[in-house]
Order: sequence, then structure tokens, then C-alpha cells
Amino acid sequence: MGRRLKGFLDQARRFDPTPEEVIRSEGRVVDACGRESRAPEEIIEAMVRFEQRFGGIGYKLLVGNPMTYGLRVKRHGPRRGPTAYLTEQGWAFAGIVDGDLTWGLDVLVDGRVAVDYGEPIAYRVLNRNVEQRLQSDALLAELRHRPHRSFEFRVANKVTPSIPDAGLPPVLPEASGEGALWWGGGESAFFARLHSWIYDGMDSWQLWAFAVQPSAVQDVRDLVAFRALQPVESTWCHLCGEPTTAGETCTQAPGKSA
Ligand SMILES: [Zn+2]
Repeated sequence: MGRRLKGFLDQARRFDPTPEEVIRSEGRVVDACGRESRAPEEIIEAMVRFEQRFGGIGYKLLVGNPMTYGLRVKRHGPRRGPTAYLTEQGWAFAGIVDGDLTWGLDVLVDGRVAVDYGEPIAYRVLNRNVEQRLQSDALLAELRHRPHRSFEFRVANKVTPSIPDAGLPPVLPEASGEGALWWGGGESAFFARLHSWIYDGMDSWQLWAFAVQPSAVQDVRDLVAFRALQPVESTWCHLCGEPTTAGETCTQAPGKSA
């Protein structure tokens, strides 16, 4: 799991997870026509695995609403309890509420994490798995109070940004997935996060440059690695929840994570 994630989770408030016997006796699936039936073994196992590892985790990240993990969270629709729904990416169950998005996330039976905002917004996978999501949040909780600058760029829908590693610190694979890309080590770090996918067939990504010293925070437009993406400076920093000033570094991120 790694020391960073362990330390982060040690501070995360924990609720009681749903007991295994409850999942086994109450696990249901609702098919595309709304018919409900007993969940097949494969789905029950995925729910049990998820709940045993992550059920009951809770922490705050950016805006102060808690992130909560566990089968007790409720997906749209009237049914409570451990229930899987058919999505375009396969069976998924409600397992996470993202307090920053104030929206529930799906945990797919293969472990990936996705978000369903409903039509006409495309269903979208955000994380390779729950642990990757937690690693990314743990890293962000640690780095968001460091001096940083906020940028953004666009790529075609569902195209993974192509970013050569020239001049960047090493990729942090444990924290990187479909909607989060991290580079870090030593004095500097970079974080790209998928922000939206609803405009003109384009994905919008946010990109932050962090450094220990304010004067060392880089303008990503000067870095060869990001040049092809033509990033622009953001007018709003989502880490601080405040407007930015062109050319200036955020040095006082408000709020507390965890
Ligand atoms: Zn900021």
C-alpha cells in the first residue's frame, strides 16, 4: 500500500462497513429494464472485496464535504443496500460519494471507478481502481498546501494526453490512472486531472505545478513536456477555490484535508 497512503488512511475517519453476511444475503442486481434479482456470485465477491478493503473510509479533500467509501452510499433510484446496476462499462455498484463533486461514483465489478452524470453526459471511467484513487487523493492532500500554479488544456474526448517525460520528475504510477496523471520527486510535482468532457467533443484537463519554494514553481508553458498540449493559465484554482491572478503563484491554499 505504501507509507503515504497508510498515513493518509490512518487519519481518515472510518464508519462501520457493511458486514459480509449482509452483502451475501442482500446483494441484488437491477437490469437495464429495472428488474431486480439476486446478484450472481461474481458481483457478490466484488462487493465483499471492496467493502472489506475500503468500506467505511471517509476524509475531506478540497471543498470540505467528505469523501465516503462503502456500500451504504446510495445510487440514484430508490433501492438501498448492496445493489449492482448495468452500465455501459459493465456491472457497477454505488460505493463512493465524492464530496468535492457532491456526486456518487460507481465501482465497476472489475475494480475501476467511474462517474455517471446521466444523459447526455457520457459515462466516464476516472480511476484504474480504488487504491489508485486513494493514492491520488493522499498525494493531493499532501501537496495542495505547497506553492502552486494552475493551468488547463484540452484534448479530444477520451484521448489520453500525450506527455513526454522530458524535463519532468518521474511518473508516479501508483497515483496515476484514467483521470489523474502525476509526476513528482524532490522539490517539484505536477498533477493533471480530467475536469470535464461535455464541450465540443473535447476533454478539459486541469494541470498544476507544485514546488517547495514559491520562486521554484514552474510555468508549464515553458516545459517541453506540456508544449504540444498548449496549456493556458486557469482563471480559477480548484485547489484553492479562488480566482487566480495571471502569472502569480498560489501560496496559501485554504482549508485542511483529511
Ligand atoms: Zn491555488
